[in-house]
Amino acid sequence: MRLVLDWDGTITERDTLHMAIERFGDLEIFHVLERQIGRELTLNEVIGVEMGTIRAPFDDVIEWLLETVTLRPGFAELVDAHDPLIVSAGFRELILPVLRREGVRADVIANSLEADPSGWRSTFLEREACPVCGEPCKRVALAGGGPFAYVGDGVSDRCVSLAADRVFARDGLARWLDERGTRYEPYGDLHDVRLALATRPSA
Ligand SMILES: [Mg+2]
Ligand SMILES: [Zn+2]
Repeated sequence: MRLVLDWDGTITERDTLHMAIERFGDLEIFHVLERQIGRELTLNEVIGVEMGTIRAPFDDVIEWLLETVTLRPGFAELVDAHDPLIVSAGFRELILPVLRREGVRADVIANSLEADPSGWRSTFLEREACPVCGEPCKRVALAGGGPFAYVGDGVSDRCVSLAADRVFARDGLARWLDERGTRYEPYGDLHDVRLALATRPSA
């Protein structure tokens, strides 16, 4: 069974978009907009506006990111064991340098962005709207690829986690699944996920 991982807050210990906006952008806009996801605005719209509050040079942000971002323990071992696919609602430009720093190779599906002194511009992968949530979500990105186990933590993982054959959840995703009464396996670090995949049969 394929293993699919979210990036921010799942592989990384903190959400790197949140960190970058906190450091270089406007966190007030971030907090106002986060409350509107799924109401007035789609997730992509919110991320696009938030990234637009960053005006710093690209290299400054990447240098800071590489010094600051920490990954959840067990990531390299999990990649060695399962060759997972990373599907992110974030951006290749912010993910690939961190993978390079770690010396890890993995396939990444993510959006792209361009630094601009008047506000960074996001370009989102074109996908059909999901029949379940109505947004071009990760479920659509994985459709037709066969069974998969999914590891996530947040809003962008909600819809896709309901389509997974096995779900590992923490933080907001775990609370959301609890509220729905949907089963999942909790994890602390990524060693937990690797050990669970090795020792327990899928449900
Ligand atoms: Mg996340
Ligand atoms: Zn969906």
